[in-house]
Amino acid sequence: MTIHFIFRCQFCDEQPDPLTQMSLQSAMRERTWGAYQDVLPGRWLVFHGGGLYGPARHACPEHRGDLVAYLRAHYGTIGWHVWKRPPYPSSLAHAETDNAWNAATRRQGGWGA
Ligand SMILES: [Zn+2]
Repeated sequence: MTIHFIFRCQFCDEQPDPLTQMSLQSAMRERTWGAYQDVLPGRWLVFHGGGLYGPARHACPEHRGDLVAYLRAHYGTIGWHVWKRPPYPSSLAHAETDNAWNAATRRQGGWGA
């Protein structure tokens, strides 16, 4: 029943070490879009796509810059997300993810509940 994702750098087919693989898998569960994320310990870079930004993309440490350049070239006119500058968060769980999730699910009068 274990789903094993295979991650590859989109520029060189590099695959992550096992610990980074685990981090990448948990990164897949982030409820966010249009956000960069540092994936440790291997220092991979994930761009959570979604919508107009397309699928999630992954880059090994050597190609982080290439991924950012690629995204800015292809999506730079669509939105500001791809222009975000480092440092990127290594976890989105307590930052944009929660805010976005709360905003999306907040009901009228839900403040302070
Ligand atoms: Zn690479």
